[in-house]
Amino acid sequence: MLKDIATPKRTKEILDKYGFTFKKSLGQNFLIDTNILHRIVDYAEVTEQTGAIEIGPGIGALTEQLAKRAKKVVAFEIDQRLLPILKDTLSPYPNVKVIHQDILKADVHNMMASEFEDVEDLMVVANLPYYVTTPILMKLLEEKIPVRGIVVMLQKEVADRIAAKPGTKDYGSLSIAIQYYTEAETVMVVPKTVFNPQPNVDSAVLRLIKRPEPVVKVKDESFFFSIVRASFAQRRKTILNNLTSNLSFGKEKKQAIEQTLYEVGVDPKRRGETLSIEEFAVLSDALYEIR
Ligand code: SAM
Repeated sequence: MLKDIATPKRTKEILDKYGFTFKKSLGQNFLIDTNILHRIVDYAEVTEQTGAIEIGPGIGALTEQLAKRAKKVVAFEIDQRLLPILKDTLSPYPNVKVIHQDILKADVHNMMASEFEDVEDLMVVANLPYYVTTPILMKLLEEKIPVRGIVVMLQKEVADRIAAKPGTKDYGSLSIAIQYYTEAETVMVVPKTVFNPQPNVDSAVLRLIKRPEPVVKVKDESFFFSIVRASFAQRRKTILNNLTSNLSFGKEKKQAIEQTLYEVGVDPKRRGETLSIEEFAVLSDALYEIR
């Protein structure tokens, strides 16, 4: 019986066998701790009913643990050099399919229609490449990929920003962009020592559970997000100053913006970081009328 892939010894054997060298530019930090992987799969509540989508299987450390528990796993890997390795390491698991593609260019809806036809419960589970964490999460959410949720390893600093509550230093447009679609929680902080090679930054596991509907209903989604981004453009500025300097109609309509803020009960001297998503929704709907 072979040992799990995610042990220091087996990982080294696999890397040596294929003469694999890490590409830093692809965010290659492989997990070498089976215990952490079990916990990630537990947090994702993967069962034999679950279809799992993985981004960046590497040499298959997480893929293997998913394959043992899920109905089926489909993994997107950008690095061609890993394909023969994965074919070898994952050969005991017939319920795994590896797709050689950049996740940012992939048609995930199309893949799901053909690979997960008879699967009810879908989850994204991954140890993400850190150089593209935010674009990957935003793609999955904005394209409205029909999954129950997303459980991913990422930089702790990004996890903190995503899960932040109003009034904290980490709260910003990224927190709102992700919490608009999901309930976000950091479930585990992970030491550098469980990776090979060790990353430069601390890591965390983030759990996003999709909401049935976005947390607020707004007249125009892209206008709402433009208000949020403008409000956080310079964190030390008041919301009035940020809106007037960063909205296309800001300068010419400064007075109307100020009056709108008063009308919706937001003191123009407040900072963006103190507004809840609900307050941003009410504000953006009111500003929509004067744009
Ligand atoms: N899942 C493995 C593990 O936990 O040991 C590897 C995780 S490693 C942090 C990230 C993986 O994502 C690497 O295998 C890398 O080649 C792959 N990757 C990087 N950019 C990608 C992209 N745009 N699309 C798909 N895979 C990507």
